[in-house]
Amino acid sequence: MKCPVCKKESSPDKKIMPFCSSRCKDVDLYKWFSGNYSIPVVEYDDISEEELEKLNGEMEEKD
Ligand SMILES: [Zn+2]
Repeated sequence: MKCPVCKKESSPDKKIMPFCSSRCKDVDLYKWFSGNYSIPVVEYDDISEEELEKLNGEMEEKD
């Protein structure tokens, strides 16, 4: 199985499947939140760690 974010071979770890890493999982989540999921993947490496942390923080607040 290929990682849907970066197209590399995905991890066998069920917690992050079908992604290759927790970072790619976060990137995919970020795409959903930003409403850009239908746009073909171009380059998501410009998402900063700070933005991902902010995203995770918002999710925790909702719980
Ligand atoms: Zn990946």
